[in-house]
Amino acid sequence: MKFYTDIHVHTISSGHAYSTILENITFAEKAGLKIVGFADHSDALPGGAHLFHFSNLKIIPRKINDLIILRGMETNIMDYEGNIDATEDFVLKGLDYVIASFHPPCINFCEDKSKITKGLVGAMHNPWVKVIGHPGDNRYPFDAEEVVKASKQTGVILEINDASFKPTSVRPGVKENLIEVLKYCNKYDMPIMANTDAHICWEVGEFSSSITFLEEINFPKELILNLYPEKLLDVLGISI
Ligand SMILES: [Zn+2]
Ligand SMILES: [Zn+2]
Repeated sequence: MKFYTDIHVHTISSGHAYSTILENITFAEKAGLKIVGFADHSDALPGGAHLFHFSNLKIIPRKINDLIILRGMETNIMDYEGNIDATEDFVLKGLDYVIASFHPPCINFCEDKSKITKGLVGAMHNPWVKVIGHPGDNRYPFDAEEVVKASKQTGVILEINDASFKPTSVRPGVKENLIEVLKYCNKYDMPIMANTDAHICWEVGEFSSSITFLEEINFPKELILNLYPEKLLDVLGISI
C-alpha cells in the first residue's frame, strides 16, 4: 500500500516541533504525497500557535509543484462536553479542517470511559471539527462502538496516528484499542485516515507502522482515505 495524504503535520509554530513549512514540503514531495496538511497546535497547549498564525495560513500557496497544501489546526478538547479551545469563527472559517485531540495538560487523564466518550462525541458535533486526533490512548479510554457510531453520524473521521505506534510514543495501549475501533469502522462502513503527526520533517509521509498495522488486521482498503486523495478532499468538503 502507498499512502498519498498526510494532513496532521506540525511546524516550528507548534512550539515543540522542529521543521519549517518548506522543510516539511520537501519531505512530503520525497515521500510521494499528493496532499499535505499543516495542523499546528492551538494555543491552549503551552507553546501552541497564536490565532493569527491560523488566520494567515491563506498566504501559503494552495499547490506547490504537484503537492496540494491544506490548512488545518489541531485543537484541544478542554472538557467532557467536548468543547475545544478555538471558538473564533473568523479564524475557523478560513481553515480546511480542524482536528480535535485530548492533550495533557489541557484536560486531565480520566479513567471514566463514559466521560471521555461524551467528550469525544461532543467534539464531533462541533461543526468545525473534521478529524479526531490520535484516539485510542489508554489514558483517555472510550466506548469504541459509541464513538464510531458518532463518527458515522457526524462524518468526523477517526485518525490512525502513526506517531502513536512509535517506541517514543507516550500513549499506551493504542494498538489494542484501535483494533476495537476499526472493528466497528468496518461494521458501520466508516472510513478512517492515517496521519503521521510529524513533529520533524523526516517523519512526513512515513507511514510504515500504520500500513503494517492496517495490513495485519486486514482492514478494507476502500475505507482508508489515504489511498484516495480525491475522496479525502470530498469527505472534508474541500474544493481546490
Ligand atoms: Zn505536538
Ligand atoms: Zn496531538
